Amino acid sequence: MPEPDKRELIALFEYARPRIIQSMELRHCPHSGFYNPVDDECTFCHQGMECVWMNRNDNLVALEEKSIEELKQQLLMAVDFVDANLTPHHLSRRKCDCDNCAWLRKVEETLARY
Ligand SMILES: [Zn+2]
Repeated sequence: MPEPDKRELIALFEYARPRIIQSMELRHCPHSGFYNPVDDECTFCHQGMECVWMNRNDNLVALEEKSIEELKQQLLMAVDFVDANLTPHHLSRRKCDCDNCAWLRKVEETLARY
């Protein structure tokens, strides 16, 4: 068995990041999207999960140093966010060719091999 390649998982984050930033409403965020664990406003913010995800997985974070398990976990969270932002039109994902659905299929296929 060849060692699974983390780079393949990390490549999937490249698409997820801008998608999740896009789905967040940062206009009213006093921290410009930088999650602050000691601020009550962050704790009760409806974007809490997306925000925490971004701060764990943005370009400044060394994804190579995370374990395969951790990368998989974070990717599954990203799948939930992307999924939640799709209109019902995309629900028959198998037939849809948009970037979102193509990415979701790719994550699914990739994770099945890890
Ligand atoms: Zn689609």
